Amino acid sequence: MLLRGLITCKKCAGAVTGDIKKEKYVYYSCHNSKRICIKKWVKEEALVKDMLGYFDRIQLTGDQIDEIIDFIEDYEAQEQEFIKNTQRILTEKLNLTQERISKLIDMHIDGKIDAQTYHFKLEEYKNEQQRLSLELKSYSAGSKAEALAAREILEMVRDAKEYFMSSSLDEKQQLLHFFFSNLTLDDGKLDLEPREPFNLIADMHDQHIWRE
Ligand SMILES: [Zn+2]
Repeated sequence: MLLRGLITCKKCAGAVTGDIKKEKYVYYSCHNSKRICIKKWVKEEALVKDMLGYFDRIQLTGDQIDEIIDFIEDYEAQEQEFIKNTQRILTEKLNLTQERISKLIDMHIDGKIDAQTYHFKLEEYKNEQQRLSLELKSYSAGSKAEALAAREILEMVRDAKEYFMSSSLDEKQQLLHFFFSNLTLDDGKLDLEPREPFNLIADMHDQHIWRE
């Protein structure tokens, strides 16, 4: 049975189990193990239709996928630019601090400053050097991984329904488990709770963030 173990009852949180009627139709209802629910049988076809309807709801066209990827790539490029600039500024500051330390040591050797000032300033510069080094380390250059991952996910959503239709029972169950974190039956109606990031795509769809 396709939906075995995938759905729970909204009211009692118990298992929703299937039954075969007239030797061919699969129906599901709360198993009612807590004896607080009324058994209301729902056809498997109707439940699957709701789930596949969800894939339609978050369906994106190729143009929409390209638009989102462009947006992410632009953002990543800006971020790279910012990181490069920050790295350049920090490196300049580090070089300057190193020069100051060298000069300070020279002045100390030449007897131009007293020992107290020398140690005081040396510690100040060394602290500065350490702070800048740590900050520089925190700005490591990223990659284009985000845009690539986003494209993979969006294309997976695009092909999900087709993939579902042509899959084996096991694969169908895996796909549903992959897309939905929570499936509950609420008085004969199916509640779908998509996993991240699919819920975000559904939200974007609802808000029509892109041009039609
Ligand atoms: Zn129940």
